[in-house]
Amino acid sequence: MTKQQAESLVKKAFAAVAHSENKHIMVKGDASPFNGDTVYWSKRESKHYDGLTAKVLIKQDHKCGYCGLRFVDGEDIHLHHIDGNHNNWKPKNLTVVHQSCHQYIHTSKRET
Ligand SMILES: [Zn+2]
Ligand SMILES: [Zn+2]
Repeated sequence: MTKQQAESLVKKAFAAVAHSENKHIMVKGDASPFNGDTVYWSKRESKHYDGLTAKVLIKQDHKCGYCGLRFVDGEDIHLHHIDGNHNNWKPKNLTVVHQSCHQYIHTSKRET
């Protein structure tokens, strides 16, 4: 291999790495809580929610289990036990709702 050949190989390799790195950054930048990238979402939200809340959130497509509206960034999200039994942690029994919806669910339950 001549010195020139070696240099062009290094240049090619460098260009390939630079290209793939750029691509990677683009993908990362495109990641949003709504694109199904669960790892990204749970990592990002781990400060705000525990793993279970994040899981249910993903299952519900980030929509409130009561009013069906999407949660806004930074909004209070409550984990609600559908059957009212706070020891029942089966996924089927859990739903995430807005704080206001959660209050409404419990208030209306008490009244009826
Ligand atoms: Zn709601
Ligand atoms: Zn509740």
